[in-house]
Amino acid sequence: MLGASRMLMPRGAVLVHSVCMSTVPQVCVVGSGPAGFYTAQQILKSHASAQVDMYEKLPTPFGLVRYGVAPDHQEVKNCIHTFTQTALQDRFTFLGNVEVGCDVTLDQLREAYHSVVLAYGAAEDRPLGIPGEMLPNVLSARCFVGWYNGLPEDANINVNLDTDSAVVVGQGNVAIDVARILLTSIDILKKTDIPESVLASLAESRVKRVTLVGRRGPEHVAFTIKELREMVNLAGCRPSLQPSDYQHLRHLIPNLPRPRKRLLELLAKTALEEPNPKLAASYASAVRQWSLQFLRSPVEVLASEDGSVSGLKLAKNKLEGKKGQERAITTEDKEILECGLVLRSIGYRGHAVDASLPFDPHTATIPNKEGRVTGNPGLYVSGWIATGPVGVILSTMTSGFTTGKAVVADIQTTAVDINQHKEGKTAIQRVLAEKGVRIVSFKQWQQLDQHEMLAGAKLGKPREKVTNLHRMMELSQ
Ligand code: FAD
Ligand code: NAP
Repeated sequence: MLGASRMLMPRGAVLVHSVCMSTVPQVCVVGSGPAGFYTAQQILKSHASAQVDMYEKLPTPFGLVRYGVAPDHQEVKNCIHTFTQTALQDRFTFLGNVEVGCDVTLDQLREAYHSVVLAYGAAEDRPLGIPGEMLPNVLSARCFVGWYNGLPEDANINVNLDTDSAVVVGQGNVAIDVARILLTSIDILKKTDIPESVLASLAESRVKRVTLVGRRGPEHVAFTIKELREMVNLAGCRPSLQPSDYQHLRHLIPNLPRPRKRLLELLAKTALEEPNPKLAASYASAVRQWSLQFLRSPVEVLASEDGSVSGLKLAKNKLEGKKGQERAITTEDKEILECGLVLRSIGYRGHAVDASLPFDPHTATIPNKEGRVTGNPGLYVSGWIATGPVGVILSTMTSGFTTGKAVVADIQTTAVDINQHKEGKTAIQRVLAEKGVRIVSFKQWQQLDQHEMLAGAKLGKPREKVTNLHRMMELSQ
C-alpha cells in the first residue's frame, strides 16, 4: 500500500523511492547485551529488508556477558558466538563507543529511525541507606563484579582484601558469585580472564570467611541450585551452617514446587547431614569457609578509629505477611558481625537515559506491554530495562524475541509508518562527527578481541582484558 505523501509524486519517482529508501525499515537498538542482540536477531530473521543499527556506550559489545557473568563460568559466555553471527550480517551495523543520552539524544534517534529499541540494561546500584555505607571497603557487588571482570569504570576501585572476614548483604546469585570469587583458590582463578592486576590483589587476599546475610529465612534464598552446589563442593572451602536454622525446612520441603524443593533439599542436607567421605576429607583440610545468616537486616556499618570497616550492625528480623509472601520486619534486637569488607548485593537498578522517557521509579523500569513502550508508538524496550534486573540470559532472550516480534509486527501492520523516509545511521553519524565521537565498528572490536585473546594465551588464560578506555580505543583503530 502506498503512503499518502508518495501518491502525490510522479509514478516513476514513487517506485524508485519505495524500493530504495522508504520500504527499508530503519531500526536501532540501544545496548549490546543479550537483550539487544536477541532483539536484533529476531528482527533480522523475521523481516527480509529491515536494517538494524546497534548503539553501545562501550567500545566492546555483549554487556553483562562480558562484564557480569563470572570469570570462572566461561561456558555461559558461549552465547557470544550467536551474537557475533548476528553482528556479521549485512543488514546489521554495530556502533560502539556511543552513549545514548550523552553523545546522541533519544529525540535524535527517534527522528532518524522508524523504530527505536532500548535494551540498555539496569546498571545502577540499590543502596542500603544506612550510616557508614560510604566508608572505604563498603562496595556494591556491582562494582566488585565490574572490578574482577575488567569493566573500565571499575578497574581502579580500591578493594582492600587485607581482612580475614567479609560480609555480603543479600542471598541471590550475584551474592554467591562474589563470595565464590573471594573464596576460590588463586590457582583456579589464574586460569580465568580476571585481569592480572586484580589477580595480584586476590593472590594477596587474607579473606578466609564470607558470610551471606539474608533479611528473611532459608526458605527465601534467591540463589539457585547449581550455584549452591558449587559452593558446597568448592575446593579448599567448607560450609559453616547453623543446624537450628534449617530444621523447619524438613516440614516445608514436601509441599514445594520442584526447583525450589531440590534447592532446599540440598541446603537442608548440607546443614543437617554428615558430608560424604570425599567431602568430609575436603572440609577437614579446608582453610576457608562460607556461612549464611538469616533474619538479619544491616542497620549500620561500623568503623574502627583509623576509619576502616570493623563490622556490620544487624537488626534481628521477624517475618510478617501471607505464607509465601512474608516480609522482614526489623526488631529492636541488634548484634554485631565483625568484618573488614562489606559487599551489598541487593540487586541492580535501571534508570532513564533521557528525561523524556516514561519511567516507573518503583520498579525502575520503562513501562511497557510486550516490549511496546506505553503511549510511544515506534519505541520499544527489552531485557532488564523492560523487566527489571531479574532473570538469566535465557529469560532475557525471551524478552528480546518478544520485543523483536512486536517491532516487526508493527512495521507489517503499519502501526509504524515506514513510508516516511528515515536516514538511519547516516543522520546519527553526522551528529557524532560534529561532536568528535569516534565510533568503534564490529570489525574494530574484533581487532581488540584478537589482541586480548593473544595476550591471554601467553598467560594461559582465555583472554587478558584491556581495562583502560584510551588503550581500548587505540587497539581498535
Ligand atoms: P546488559 O547485559 O546489562 O546489557 C546492556 C548494554 O547496554 C550494556 O552493554 C551497556 O554498556 C549498554 N548501555 C547502557 N547504557 C547505555 C547507553 N546510555 N547507551 C548505549 N549503550 C548503553 N545470567 C545467566 O544466564 N548466567 C549467568 O551466569 C549470569 N551471571 C550474571 C552475573 C551477574 C553479576 C549479573 C548482574 C547477571 C548475571 N546473569 C547471568 C544475568 C544476565 O547477565 C542478564 O540476564 C542479562 O545480561 C541482561 O541483559 P540486558 O541486555 O538487558 O542488559
Ligand atoms: P536477586 O536474585 O533479586 O537477589 C537479591 C537479594 O537481595 C535477595 O536475597 C533479596 O532478599 C536481597 N535484598 C533485596 N533488597 C534488600 C534489602 N533492602 N535488604 C536486604 N536484602 C535485600 O538479585 P541478584 O543476585 O542481583 O541477581 C539478579 C539476577 O541475575 C537474578 O535473576 C539472578 O538469578 C541472575 N544471575 C544469575 C546468575 C547465574 O545464573 N549463575 C549469576 C548472577 C546473577 P529478598 O528475597 O528478601 O528480597
